[in-house]
Amino acid sequence: MAVGVLALQGSFNEHIAALRRIGVKGVEIRKAEQLENVTSLIIPGGESTTMAKLAELHNLFPALREFVKMGKPVWGTCAGLIFLANKATGQKEGGQELVGGLDCTVHRNFFGSQIQSFEAELPVPDLAATEGGPPSFRAVFIRAPAILEVGPDVEVLASISVQSSKTVDPSSQEESAESEGKVIVAVKQGNLLATAFHPELTIDSRWHSYFMKMSSANNEIVSIASSSSSNL
Ligand code: GLN
Repeated sequence: MAVGVLALQGSFNEHIAALRRIGVKGVEIRKAEQLENVTSLIIPGGESTTMAKLAELHNLFPALREFVKMGKPVWGTCAGLIFLANKATGQKEGGQELVGGLDCTVHRNFFGSQIQSFEAELPVPDLAATEGGPPSFRAVFIRAPAILEVGPDVEVLASISVQSSKTVDPSSQEESAESEGKVIVAVKQGNLLATAFHPELTIDSRWHSYFMKMSSANNEIVSIASSSSSNL
């Protein structure tokens, strides 16, 4: 079985290309019934309000929740992390629908608006221990969320230091959160993986390999080499 990539909006093509680089077939998911053909799922980054509206329109939420509930491996990156969180803050009244399942509170635009996007060298000991390579990962944060609180079953994989000042983007008046010390940007809870940044935008494939290891622990993943019906 192949890896599904939710393909409503955002960086789904980049995830499929990143999977291809490690020899894994990724398939675009736009309808609930397509989830039956995949053993694990990536929810990409993008714009979570838009993605939620599209997911609602396609009646995908019940199937996505069921997928998570069944314990199938799901990786959310950036907006995908917001989707997986049990609670999201830093958004307009009413917010948006979430898939949930990941026991954490996420602040949607923690680091501010688009122009406050950045790259950072992020120490990720577990990734280096599992996948080898350098002890840190060059992480791309685009209008990124951060995890403010986690439940007892959530394993923290990476955190980042933040300044104590509150910043306001004059063009959008959008505020980043006021915080000191460190915030969490990568977590794992059972078969759920979530990163606030975008590994699919870098050539370092270790996060994709890491997720494949999580997935193959209980599933047989189709490798492109062995897939006779590959249309790539
Ligand atoms: N903060 C964005 C949102 O709320 C997500 C940004 C991203 O996925 N790059 O949707």
